[in-house]
Amino acid sequence: MGDPTEEEIVAQRLLVARLGRLGLVRRYTRWGNHNCHCYSEPPELHGPYTHWTRTEANKTVSRIWSDEQLSRYQSWLDNAR
Ligand SMILES: [Zn+2]
Repeated sequence: MGDPTEEEIVAQRLLVARLGRLGLVRRYTRWGNHNCHCYSEPPELHGPYTHWTRTEANKTVSRIWSDEQLSRYQSWLDNAR
């Protein structure tokens, strides 16, 4: 894999700095498209995806990680332990 992007570097720093209070959640989700099968009855949701929720400057910021991102970040986390 190539060099980490700027976003990945920031994520890595945040992860290492906040190891003790990471808000990582695996869950199924809907996207915004109301024509998608995730809005049908019964719903077929997408995922599971890893949602990373953190608080930044008193705002809650939520990101969704792909499995590829997750495995990359996981190795950083393991190294930081
Ligand atoms: Zn959908």
